[in-house]
Amino acid sequence: MAGRVVEVKVESIGSGPGDAVHSSWLELSASALRHNVAVFRGLEGQGAAPRALGVVLKGNAYGHGLAQVLPVVHGEVDVLYVIAPQDALKVREYERARGLAPRQVLVLGAVAPDEAVVLARAGVDAVVADRGWADAAAVLRAAKLERPLRVHVHIDTGLGREGFTLEGLPTEARFLTEARDVLEVVGALSHFANTEDVTEQGYALAQVAAFEKGLAFLSEQLAPAQPLQRHIAASAATLVLPRARYEALRVGISLYGLWPSPETRLSARLVLGEVPVLKPVLSWRCRSQVVKWLPAGSYVGYGCTYRCPEPTRIAVLPVGYYDGYPRLASGKAHVLVKGRRCPVLGRVMMNHLIVDVTRATSDERPVTATLLGRDGEESVPAESLAGWAQTIHYEVVTQLGAHLKRVVVA
Ligand SMILES: *Cc1c(COP(=O)(O)O)cnc(C)c1O
Repeated sequence: MAGRVVEVKVESIGSGPGDAVHSSWLELSASALRHNVAVFRGLEGQGAAPRALGVVLKGNAYGHGLAQVLPVVHGEVDVLYVIAPQDALKVREYERARGLAPRQVLVLGAVAPDEAVVLARAGVDAVVADRGWADAAAVLRAAKLERPLRVHVHIDTGLGREGFTLEGLPTEARFLTEARDVLEVVGALSHFANTEDVTEQGYALAQVAAFEKGLAFLSEQLAPAQPLQRHIAASAATLVLPRARYEALRVGISLYGLWPSPETRLSARLVLGEVPVLKPVLSWRCRSQVVKWLPAGSYVGYGCTYRCPEPTRIAVLPVGYYDGYPRLASGKAHVLVKGRRCPVLGRVMMNHLIVDVTRATSDERPVTATLLGRDGEESVPAESLAGWAQTIHYEVVTQLGAHLKRVVVA
């Protein structure tokens, strides 16, 4: 090549690692997502009081991709819950660009005073969870808003995270009475600590009781014009604790087709009489970079932790822990190739994974591997990858690289 100038068209190679030809990608099933929405809509049967079904879009929509999930869910649900103010604005931008009626959007996470002003103007709801909001009230007043910011009061009923404790509520939330001109309390929420960890909901019921006390206090203190929109149930409580459903459901993981835990699945059988079918929305696939033979006795990967006992046909996959494939799954995981399980050999690397395809394929042509999801009769659930990596599926999916290409399929 010396002395030769090679012309490279930069546009043709994309702008980031997810655009590389040799990069893994995520497939999102729109029909699976709609199916899961229908499961939640149908939980109570006909004639039941209508409740608002909300989808939780935090963590880049549980790693599925906010930009790709939003168009699929926007018309299907009543409330969109995000963690960051910026994501709420993305929803408003999406609606504006398409001339869609704005949905109720609620920022669950922390909001700085200046951000509160922007949210008020965008008609987004925020959560008042501590007395730091007294400062925001002053900033909102100075901003001379046309309408107050709609807020929901977070009551800490036993998670020990954000929210006013029952003990703190009377003093710490007092400022809300004087801030009515800029903070309009329209709802109240709390969050469960262990609904998915147990099949016996004693602690959750104590949280519900505390929530009721907090609600009674707020109604008396604030005398809101409209009844408060009450919401406490995430996926697990929505499924297995009917009395926690109130007016709005904040469903995350299960709208993406995953059970919060095996315990929740067990409880669902008891409480609902059957286990609803949830369909995983996400599949993660990758085209091999090269397929080749290694002679018996060859080592594979960093640390030489694996040695081929026999001649082995390997596929080198251009995916690694940079993309979200957990390194702790080294030596335990398998992927699917042509519907067969292929063990991951040696260590998971930053950008590479080596798998044994000796029996899955009969030649050295490129193969497509499924890292998560179904291929033929076999599937790799997010729960399995989480188990190999000694973590939970919530973490596995939210660690999927934001740079990866995400495609919505039917
Ligand atoms: C994450 C979260 C949810 C959703 O939880 P899932 O178990 O994924 O359904 C709901 N509410 C709050 C406050 C959360 O942080």
